[in-house]
Amino acid sequence: MQYFILLIFFLYGLVFGSFFNVVGLRVPTQSLFTQKRSYCDTCERTLTWRELVPVWSFAVQKGRCRGCSESISPLYPVMELTTGLLFAFTYYLTGFNSELVLGLLLIALIIPVTVSDIVYRRIPNRLLLFFSPFFILYRLISPLDPFWNSLAGAGGAFLLVFLIILISKGGMGIGDLKYYTLFGFVFGLGHFLLLFFLSTLYGALAGGIMMKVKKLGRKTKIPFGPYIGLAALTVFYFGDILIQWYLNLFS
Ligand SMILES: [Zn+2]
Repeated sequence: MQYFILLIFFLYGLVFGSFFNVVGLRVPTQSLFTQKRSYCDTCERTLTWRELVPVWSFAVQKGRCRGCSESISPLYPVMELTTGLLFAFTYYLTGFNSELVLGLLLIALIIPVTVSDIVYRRIPNRLLLFFSPFFILYRLISPLDPFWNSLAGAGGAFLLVFLIILISKGGMGIGDLKYYTLFGFVFGLGHFLLLFFLSTLYGALAGGIMMKVKKLGRKTKIPFGPYIGLAALTVFYFGDILIQWYLNLFS
């Protein structure tokens, strides 16, 4: 039974992942609801249901449009698979309770923001504005302990990242600032500090690898949103364990 429910979550994740990816691609260009049916970005042909099956259609078509043979972004299958795995993993860790709702909300925010930041180098305001009320409502129903930790987290996140933007002059952007602040509100101050540390660690590791592989210069601007999102998921899944482990080092 447990495996069956995990499979259901995975399959739903594939379908939602397909939607989240399109949201991330279309919200910044304001074209999310202008076309009713899914279409090819190059030839604008409306896609048939066979071409909309997550992951599978990409594999069968070898990553190309059946109309114009233009290659389809690998973001589609990657984000579909990622969302499927994250949905299943979230249910696996939380079971059916309020944490499951928070996990799915986080995924629904993080996947489109990640896609948008990779493709357009920006974290759309409209995504943050759309999701913020849901997170505020969630923290009203299921508050942190103590409840004001959400405000401390948001305030601390805002101050810290704002200072870093001032000092570093362009290392991080205003989109990153708002994104961090929202996570500060969701997780509270202690968990936010862990999140911030992890995001810079992921960013530094990935930046180091990219400089080796692609020979990027130090000045190359890399989008930071994906590492913030990955850090937020790490904190959601393993934050308590990591903080406990850290505190044990000193006791
Ligand atoms: Zn096409």
